[in-house]
Parts: sequence; C-alpha cells; structure tokens
Amino acid sequence: MVKLLTQIQGGESMNFSDIIKGALLHDIGKFIMRANKKNNKTHQEIGAGWLEEQGIAGTISVFALRHHHMSGKNARHDQLDVFSLPTNETLIVYEADNLSSGERPEKKGEGKWQANTPLMSVFSKISLEHKPGKPAYRNCWHYHDLGSSEGALRFPGKHDSAQASCGPDGYSSLLSSFKEEFNKLLPELNIDALLVLLEKYTSYIPSETRLVEGKPESFPDVSLFDHLKTTAAIAACLYRYIKETCPDYRENLLKDKILDRKDPRYMLVGGDFSGVQKFIYTISSKGALKTLRARSFFLELLTEHVVAEILERMNLPRANIIYTGGGRFYLLAPNTSSCREVLKQIDIEINGLLYYTYHGQLYLALEKVEFTGEAFMPRERAGRDLAWLWGELRSLLTKKKSRKFSEQIAADPDSFWLPAEPGDKVCDFCHTDSAKLIPLRKSEEGEETIEVCQSCRQLYELGDDLPNAKYIARSLVKPPQGIPYLTIGTTYYTVCSNEEVLDKLNAQAVYVLNSWSCDDYLRPGAVQLFIGAYTTRQDRGYKSFDTLAKEAAGADRIGIMRMDVDNLGTIFTRGLPESGRTFSRLTALSRSLTQFFKFYINEICEGVGENFSPLRLLSGKGRRNVTIVYAGGDDLFLVGAWNDVAELSFDIADCFRRYTGQNPDVTISGGMVVQDAKYPLYKLADLAGEAEERAKDNGRDSISLFYTSVPDFTRDGRPIFTGTFKWSEANHLLKELLTPAVSGLAKQIADENRLEFLFSKNFMHKLAAVTDIWRREGKLYLPRLAYTLARESEHKELKNNGAWPEWKQKIYDIKNITYLRTAVTWMDLLSRRGAEDGRNEESAKWR
Ligand SMILES: [Zn+2]
Repeated sequence: MVKLLTQIQGGESMNFSDIIKGALLHDIGKFIMRANKKNNKTHQEIGAGWLEEQGIAGTISVFALRHHHMSGKNARHDQLDVFSLPTNETLIVYEADNLSSGERPEKKGEGKWQANTPLMSVFSKISLEHKPGKPAYRNCWHYHDLGSSEGALRFPGKHDSAQASCGPDGYSSLLSSFKEEFNKLLPELNIDALLVLLEKYTSYIPSETRLVEGKPESFPDVSLFDHLKTTAAIAACLYRYIKETCPDYRENLLKDKILDRKDPRYMLVGGDFSGVQKFIYTISSKGALKTLRARSFFLELLTEHVVAEILERMNLPRANIIYTGGGRFYLLAPNTSSCREVLKQIDIEINGLLYYTYHGQLYLALEKVEFTGEAFMPRERAGRDLAWLWGELRSLLTKKKSRKFSEQIAADPDSFWLPAEPGDKVCDFCHTDSAKLIPLRKSEEGEETIEVCQSCRQLYELGDDLPNAKYIARSLVKPPQGIPYLTIGTTYYTVCSNEEVLDKLNAQAVYVLNSWSCDDYLRPGAVQLFIGAYTTRQDRGYKSFDTLAKEAAGADRIGIMRMDVDNLGTIFTRGLPESGRTFSRLTALSRSLTQFFKFYINEICEGVGENFSPLRLLSGKGRRNVTIVYAGGDDLFLVGAWNDVAELSFDIADCFRRYTGQNPDVTISGGMVVQDAKYPLYKLADLAGEAEERAKDNGRDSISLFYTSVPDFTRDGRPIFTGTFKWSEANHLLKELLTPAVSGLAKQIADENRLEFLFSKNFMHKLAAVTDIWRREGKLYLPRLAYTLARESEHKELKNNGAWPEWKQKIYDIKNITYLRTAVTWMDLLSRRGAEDGRNEESAKWR
C-alpha cells in the first residue's frame, strides 16, 4: 500500500472543517475565471491562486488545485493531478466532486465550452411524460440572469438577455461584492456563513458551461452553488465513513477504498411529522391567530431542532440538509453504525417527548435508505438511482406512520401504557386533560380566563414575540428571568428581535431569519433560516380575525386560503429524465421550491412587488392585510381580509408560473373560503382543505374560489359547487368580467371602503339565477338574459356609460357564462356595506 502523505502544503494536517471548506470552495476558480477576459490558466490554478491571495491556508486551497484527474502527458500534471499528491483527503473531495456532478458524463466529448452561457432554470427540464431513454421536454426553456440571490423575486427569462448578463463584466461586478463579503468572514470562515455567502453569489452561475449547439437540453441547469454544496455533503459523508470504518486511515493511502462505489456507505435520511394538521388547527378560537401562528412556528422549530440534533450527533455540516420545512426533512448521511445508532436514539427521544409532553398529538416518522456511490450516477434506464431512493424513502415513511410510537412502546412498554394523571379540567387550547393547567397572563378577548397546559402557555407567549422575530437563539442554559422561551427537550429556544437580547443568551446556535446579509452571520453558530412569516400587525401582535374582517373591502369577512404544488412526489421521482437525475439537480429543485414558499412568499404577500404587478381591484397600494399561518416547502395556509386573500391567490399563482418558467407540468392548486370572523377556526381549515380538494379534482392547476359547505344549487339531487376553475380560466374571469366591471361600472366609496356598482343588486341576482338555470338544466336562456340586460340598460347611470355596451356583450357571450356566478359573488362581496348581513334569506339563495 502507498504510504500516506500526511503533511501537505503549508505543513498542517487537515481537519474535518478544512475538508468541508475545501469542498465548498473547490470550484471557486470557475467564478474567478469567468470574470477575466483572458487567461491561460485552468480553473484549478486560478481558484487556488485566488484563495491564497485572500490569505486562505494551503490546506483549503489544495482542494481547489487538485480535484481532477489529469492525463500524465499534461505539462501541469504534477501540480494539478489529484493522484500525484497522495492524501486521503484530496481523494475524498475528488470522489465527492465526481458523484455530485453525475450530470456531466452524459455530454462527454460533445459540445464546446462557452464561458458566457447562462444558467437554465432547473424547472425547464421537468416533464411528467419522460419515457426511458426518450425524454419528453416541454420546450419551456428559461434562463437566469447573472446576479445575487439577495433581494427581490427573480424570474427566469429569455436566453439572449440572460446571456448578455453573463459576460466578464457581469461576472467581475458580482465577484467584487463576493470578495468583499468573503473577506469579512475571514479568518474563521465559518462553514455555515460560507454556505450563505456561496448561495447568495453562486446560485445563478452555471456549474459548467459546455453545450451543444441547437440542443437546449444540453444547457447547464445546475448552479455552481448546488454543485459545491452537494460536493461538500458527499465529502462529509465519505470522510466520516472512511474514518469510522478504516482503522488505518491515518497511516495509509486508501485509494481503492475511497473510490469504491459498490459499498452501501450512504444514507438518505427522511423525517416526517404526522398529526400536523390536527396539531395546528384543532384548537379553540381563544387567542386564535396568535396561537395558530405560534403552533405552526413551533412545528418549524421542532423540525429544525431534530435536524440540528441529527447533524450535531453525526458531526455533519448543514450542507448535508437536502430539504427541511413543513414538518418534513431530508438529509444525506454516512451509513456507519454510529450514525444508525444516532437515528435510533433520536427516534426514541423525540417521540418520547412528543408522547409525554405533547400528548401524542404529533409523531415523527424517521427512516433511512442505504445506498452505494453508484446510485449517485444517473442512468439511461430507471434503476436504483436517487429519484428511486427518494420514492422508496417516502413509502417507508408512510409505512412508519402507520405504526406510530411502536418503538417507544417496545422500548418501555410499562411506562408507555401507564395512564397519565387525569386533571379536573382540560386545556383551553389543545383540550388535553392530562396536564397541569396554568392561567394565562391575559386573555385576548378581555374578560374570559384562559387556563392552558404548560406547552400551550409557552407557545402562546411566544406568539407575542413572533411578529418581530429576527433571530431564534438555541441554548442549553435557561435564559435569564423575564425573557420568554420555549423548550424542546432540554434545549431552550428564544425569539429575539434585536442583538441586545441575543447577547444575554449564551446561545449555542442562532437562526437568522430571512437574511442574506453577511454581517448577520459573523456571530459563531449563526445559520440561515427562511420562514414564511409575512403578517399584519396591531400594536405588538397580530391583527385579530375581527379586525381583518372589519378592514376588508365591502363585506366584513375573512378569507382563508390553502395552496400547494401539484404532483410534487412525481416531480421528484419522475420529473427529470433518467439521465438527468443527479444529486445536485434534485437538491437544486428542492432548494428552489423552498425558496419560493418560505422566502419569496413574504414579498408576494406584501403586495407591492418590484418585479410583478399585484392584482388590485380597488385603488390603494398599501401592504396586504394577510397573515401567513403556515408555509411549508410546497404548501401554504393564509388568512386575511377576504379581498386581499382573493387577490393574493392570483399573485401567488402568477409568480409561481413565472418562477417555474411557465412549465405546464409544474403547477399549483388552491382553495379559498370567505367566512364570518366568528366561524370556528378548525372548521375554516377543513373548509379550505375541501376547497383545495375540489381544485385538485378539477385536474389540478386550479383554484376553487369562494367555496362554502352549502352547495350553490342541486342538479339531479346532487349538490353543485361552482367557482372551481383552471388558473387560465380564472384569469379569463378576471380579465373579461370582473376587472372591466370594477374599473368601468363602479364607483369606489372611499370612506366605506367598498364599491358601488352602477347596476342594481337585483340585476346581479338575476344574472346569477340565469347561470344557475343554465348549469342545472343545461339550457341557456338567452332570451331571458337579453331581456334582463335590456331592462338594466335603461338605468340612467348606464345609459350613457361607455363601458356598459362592451361589458353587456361579454355577459351575453356564451363563453363567459361559466364564470358569471363567481364574478357576481365577488362583485357582491365588494359592494356590501361592512356588517350588512349576507346571510339573510334573499342572498343566501345564491351566495
Ligand atoms: Zn394545551
């Protein structure tokens, strides 16, 4: 066996963190190189040179220099070749680089390098119709402009303008900001901060720029960031695995061992909480919105907590997180006995906690699939590739959920079945009867006393601080008196709005919420966390449902909306052609979705978009009156003033369509409900869920608007619900019927915040009645419609109105009749006088 070179350039031996940093920076030369017009050096030399210029120790820059296998005939072979400097560490990063970029060999020998190639949207190659060996592209090629991830929502666009941004000038201005922030992070160069920095600057840089003329599918769609991150994740696993399984790691060069791809040395770890819906929504309406937000936040925190525990005990960096959010997570881990043991332990600990402290309302299914290095490599025919493993993991998780708490019962059967001491009363929030109750500081409604269990109390108090949260500190010691905290097991979590509080906490880690500013990550233990947290405030807290209803346009109602991505599982397992299912690409896909639903969603909710035009039926351009209750990695639940919620659903769908490059196979569906603010919350959640189901039943890519549990009418004894449309139809409804009526046939009554239509309410009722007859009996009463329109035309307000004849024509147009009822519902709500009761006999017939 070759004797190992333990000492490398610089004379220091490598530690784990250097390897991860080295893996994260190994291709940084590509970024530097494209910023320079002329050079005759390789990206390896340029990268290593740049790192040394920044004062980075030789141990890290050596990975930038030596991560390829060069031909022995190459003049620079000895300086650059990974095998000519025998260290296990460089071989580990070399192998990780190859496994991460499994997408490359497919083009070997084909195409040519073109440095100014823009990055293609990762959604461009998605199709639900791929066949083995014969990908079925949808021809929706969209490209990203070069730039940083910071700031406003970015949409991919046309090739030529994207390409124009990718010249040396574009690269050098990006590089100079990168360099400035990079230098702020020195000399520690904390891995988590480096991850944020790299994501900020290299997410729109293609990892490679080789392409085949006339074949858009050959364009790069994996960013440098996703390549660097996955290389680091694989390198971390490989290092942990080799060190744990090879006792001679320090003495010998383990080339064959490191490059072995037949050995099941990796694990895809998945966690999925069940009981989420019930946990969040089945609460009393006392202190509703605050508690609701706090509970959904708790779930995010719990997910992060489990992820942090796993990574910490397995000794892995956050680069190994593939996805986290909405009570689910996926990680890449080494398949060693110590890591398998960690999973077992965490399973027992967390589920024990969930059972005893949270009364089994939530359960964590934790599973893993083991796999070999070969699985990283995509193949032409479906096989045990990563996408397949993903599917496998998901089905294991589903199975596990059906055996809830079985491990805990097996581990400790006696105490598990020991009934908890029943209390006299139940917790006012979660209705548990097995815990000691504590009166709350104050009740939101004023007079009522609220008695809750310990965990609900912590959540309730946390709710006060949430709207202003900037950091979440995680510490192992109890925070000083007066600072509210939340405990998960023996860990304390504190929500902070400023650094002053943070400084008092002795935090072991600090989650920085929704920030791209490097300055926020200088603190040790600082990590980035995206959180869909847009809200409307009143004093310190959230606006109540009552306030949201009162502030709505027209009727005093709240709107609730649920939305999620259609076919998400299929997109991950079969959305990419077999030959394209690489680790970096799957990671990029999941990262892009997370960023939309947890980061950009805040900007979309704000309703004052820089890069999109928010739908505004009434004039006035303030922030939207909505609060995100829950934003997972692909789904959403929001409440607000009904008119804002209705408009916002169109904004989200519109932005999502543009964000995914108009790919018809990547769609979103939603359901929206308008109700009285006093309506019980859990029922609203159910109703919105039903509405979403209706949208899915409509072949997805749909919205169900103004859904109620009461059918609009019956046909052949069956209940008929109207208001469910494909998004394209819903947009047609807006464009043809609603917008022209609002802008041309209505007056805005500013001090009442409502619209007054020039036609009568009675006329609206009649229009609704005509469409009902048409839907119920399949008969189109054109004469009746004509008569109704003619009668209304005599109205003096409409007689000389220029917009009326055109609108009338649209109403009479048979193509629009499907949309009429929903448009009328919308107009009616906009024109009501606040508290005017919409539930009286008259309107109940059609509303
Ligand atoms: Zn409780």
